Amino acid sequence: MAVGKDTLRRFIFEGEDILGSIVRLDDVWDTLRTADNYPSQIEPLVGEAAAAAALLGRSLKFDGRLTFQVQGAEHLRLLVMQTDNKLNLRGIARYGDKLPEYFTELVEGGLLTITIESDGLGGKAERYQSVVPLSEKTLADCLGVYYRQSVQLPTVLLLDASNQRAAGLMLQAMPERKPGSGRWKQLVEELKGMDVLRMSGLDDSALLSVLFPEDDIRLFTPEPVAFHCDCSDERIENMLRMFGVDELSSLASDPGPVEIRCEFCNKGYEVSGERMGKLIAEVSPSASGPLH
Ligand SMILES: [Zn+2]
Repeated sequence: MAVGKDTLRRFIFEGEDILGSIVRLDDVWDTLRTADNYPSQIEPLVGEAAAAAALLGRSLKFDGRLTFQVQGAEHLRLLVMQTDNKLNLRGIARYGDKLPEYFTELVEGGLLTITIESDGLGGKAERYQSVVPLSEKTLADCLGVYYRQSVQLPTVLLLDASNQRAAGLMLQAMPERKPGSGRWKQLVEELKGMDVLRMSGLDDSALLSVLFPEDDIRLFTPEPVAFHCDCSDERIENMLRMFGVDELSSLASDPGPVEIRCEFCNKGYEVSGERMGKLIAEVSPSASGPLH
């Protein structure tokens, strides 16, 4: 059986209430990776984040998106990865000069924020946000903390990335399974130190029989993961509205249209001088009605 490219595959341990997913990102990872000339300390983290976003995004039960973001650190200034419920990914990283080698040093002083937004019906969008300290040695372990604390599901993740592939594996005990119970505890131990990237070279059923030879595992159909940026004129204008009058006026001070580039996919947008004038009028305080 061929090894699935850019796919996520879920599986279940029969009779154990333990769910798992494997993700492999190939072309998607290549698109994300080549969007910037990431230094060697940053590139694998972007790949791990992409694999994690697909694993986390698969749990969305509605139309919407999940964004996770590392921000506020001196070295890894921003790492943002976003997926919608159909596993369309986009993401970027911003970083300083003179980068340290280890994850804990790269993210020192930063926080991990996970935001889930539902599109909602009739404009009733909802938004949930969790903030997790970056206190573990790897991104995978920090996300494990998020699941234990915010979602209250015992979860183990393995993440890794090379310049060829980003891969991830996630196991989750369902609520009815007590976290202390036998097989779950053993699985957590068995996964420690497992090389998920090397294992991802095997096809799914071979991989699972190597990882969990004693277990009865049912595999679900592979699901595609894609790179997709949902930027649009409307979204660019919404972003501009958040700038405020002064910044908009200074952007619009040169004659001709304002050129904006989407930082996720590098697509260029032009906002005409006339449109800029309308946006400035919309956000200026006098537009919001008389003051009391
Ligand atoms: Zn874009």
